[in-house]
Amino acid sequence: MSKTLSTVFIWALISLAIGLWLGAATGWGVFALGLLLIVFIGANQLKKIQVWVRNLDAPPPPSVGPWDDVLAPIYRKLKQSRLEIHHQDRHIEGMMMAAEALPDGAVTLDQNLHVQWCNKSACQHLGLNLATDRQQSILNILRSPEFARYAQAQEWGQSLVLHTHQNGDEKTLQLHLTPYGLGQFLLVSRDITQMEKLETTRKDFVANVSHELRTPLTVLLGFLETLREMPADSIPAEQRERYEQMMLEQAQHMQAIVADLLTLSTLESSPSSEHTSVAVPQLIEQALIRAHALSNDQHVFVTALDDRLCIDGAETELGSAINNLLTNAIRYTPKDGTITTSWFLNNDGSATFSVQDTGIGISPQDIPRLTERFYRADKGRSRATGGTGLGLAITRHVVSRHQAELEIKSRSGAGSTFSIHFPKSRVRFLDS
Ligand code: ADP
Repeated sequence: MSKTLSTVFIWALISLAIGLWLGAATGWGVFALGLLLIVFIGANQLKKIQVWVRNLDAPPPPSVGPWDDVLAPIYRKLKQSRLEIHHQDRHIEGMMMAAEALPDGAVTLDQNLHVQWCNKSACQHLGLNLATDRQQSILNILRSPEFARYAQAQEWGQSLVLHTHQNGDEKTLQLHLTPYGLGQFLLVSRDITQMEKLETTRKDFVANVSHELRTPLTVLLGFLETLREMPADSIPAEQRERYEQMMLEQAQHMQAIVADLLTLSTLESSPSSEHTSVAVPQLIEQALIRAHALSNDQHVFVTALDDRLCIDGAETELGSAINNLLTNAIRYTPKDGTITTSWFLNNDGSATFSVQDTGIGISPQDIPRLTERFYRADKGRSRATGGTGLGLAITRHVVSRHQAELEIKSRSGAGSTFSIHFPKSRVRFLDS
């Protein structure tokens, strides 16, 4: 402004000098002309500023006279604010992305428990859809009396465990409501379905092991008490021998259960470390020697093995799986039945070990559950033949540790075929 005033003042002095020299009228005329020019230039500068105001992203117009000093700091301030906003946007964006990536669900609610925002996990856990559920009461979305009671009790020190059904799936959620800010609430959800299942499996397992060990222990204790209570000479030698034999069998059964449990626990807890080219035909031959002994010449054995075919894997584990399948075939096949053992290369380069028997077979509803720990289709025969109920569970672990597949084909009364299919990547050939 001071620039404009000094220009007007200088122009007035010049006009005064011209007026003194050429007469007052000329002086006033020159002064008026000067003023007009100043107004015109000012209007032009204002026009440029108006254009700039419409697009504040561009730098201010150059040469706008006295406005130069005003526009430059405004533009600097604008640029700085824009940078700060950009940083804050990036920060908020980062926070939102972190909230989205959370494995836990997060829902923000207003003071009336109306949904404001939620992340992806919350959508999955609670079946929320932000497009339609924003501003809806969470009590209307999560239609559960338990949750309504929890939300209204206003005592949120503890989480709520909620069992829900979604698209036919049962889910167990852990929900926690926390007040924050000015009357807002944060609802955190966690899917604990898997954790709950594992806990149930663990409890079942402990109950099963106790039950499995209790039976032989009770028998063993019974005999021991009888022997202790009866005078030594009152038991005929033959009967004593029978008792001892039975006690030995029970102790051996317990030993077998513990050994299988240890094998299972090793398979479940350790990564498969052993990796060599395993001569499977030799393992099968060794298992067949044991099988013949177990069969006591009561079965017919048919064998077809590809002698060159090896597997990249863990020898002890493979030996145990082969042994389990062969032992089962004998135990579940009555006298004179046939056990066919095959080991061959398939057209696609994969390899298959299979044990076929003509035994009692398995009914269709039992087949999917056979590899569960302690699951027995034929309880009586399993126990009578010293089965632990863990053989196929061990086999399943070994099979999956070799990226192989266990196939069970069977019909009640019509025999069974248990096959292990090894992928091509595991197949090796013995150098001839
Ligand atoms: P078990 O020690 O009881 O044999 P497994 O885990 O080896 O335990 O097998 C589980 C169940 O599968 C057995 O109890 C039996 O009912 C059934 N089974 C396994 N192999 C055969 C087979 N070859 N024929 C008929 N049933 C079988």
